[in-house]
Amino acid sequence: MTEDELYARLKAFEGRPAATAAQGRDPVNQPMIRHWCEAMGDTNAAYTGPDAIAPPTMLQAWTMGGLSGHSNGAGRSTAQDELFALLDGAGCTSVVATDCEQEYLRPLRPGDTVTFDAVIESVSPRKTTKLGTGHFVTTRTDVRANGELAGTHRFRILKYAPAARPEPQGEQGDPKPLRPRPVINRDNQGFWEGVRRHRLLIQRCTACAALRFPWLPGCNHCASPDWDTVEASGAGTVFSYVVMHHPPFPAFDPPYAVALVELAEGVRMISNITGVPYDKVRIGMPVQLEFLRVDDDLELPVFRGSEA
Ligand code: ZN
Repeated sequence: MTEDELYARLKAFEGRPAATAAQGRDPVNQPMIRHWCEAMGDTNAAYTGPDAIAPPTMLQAWTMGGLSGHSNGAGRSTAQDELFALLDGAGCTSVVATDCEQEYLRPLRPGDTVTFDAVIESVSPRKTTKLGTGHFVTTRTDVRANGELAGTHRFRILKYAPAARPEPQGEQGDPKPLRPRPVINRDNQGFWEGVRRHRLLIQRCTACAALRFPWLPGCNHCASPDWDTVEASGAGTVFSYVVMHHPPFPAFDPPYAVALVELAEGVRMISNITGVPYDKVRIGMPVQLEFLRVDDDLELPVFRGSEA
């Protein structure tokens, strides 16, 4: 099959349904809203109390079937499976989600029954990306609450054939690649100046005293552009973490732990944990700031943990 023939067959899927008259697994409900808000750290008062609405960005959550899928398969169409099988057959066996757009027409409220229809909206011509060449597939889901259109959710993926990997570096005596340099601009240069002097500086709004990190031009609480800094004591705890196994990045040796550290001052920052093996990092672990000399030109604030 030539590229043109393949694309003609892919285009024929545009407009075909991916789901028809499908049912949300649960009605809109306060417990799911509360879990979402806690996970997002969203304390907006609109999402609690007797007149609560659901956070608009939860739109897709109400349409998801969970790990076990939708119990009865109702509303499911085979068009998307057929499209993916065609792409798989053309070598586009990998998939990555690229972006999502949502449009909100009316708020969802606890008790609303959710139904939805999904359509394969577009399939792009073959595109070459850094990951490989393939086709972007956009699916639009119209979400209804009690039968009334409440919002649309557009989800775009790239189905692609992975690009050939470059030969691994460093095995023929090549110098190991350097870690990426921080992008220093006028909004964050004070932070990096602090790092050079082995001081971890947190921005403080001089109008409302709210601390913020990372550095930003304005205050999240009161929008004031005026600020000074406070120096972090260096004490913190691991608020959350991931262990990076894949993909490998030059200059990094997986597996390694990347932690979200909550500083004693209350702000959080992302950094590496040193002093303990990656598989011994735990949520709640006390850590202490130190400065790691990475190479001749780069020093980074990291956090040292200890196995209790
Ligand atoms: Zn402020």
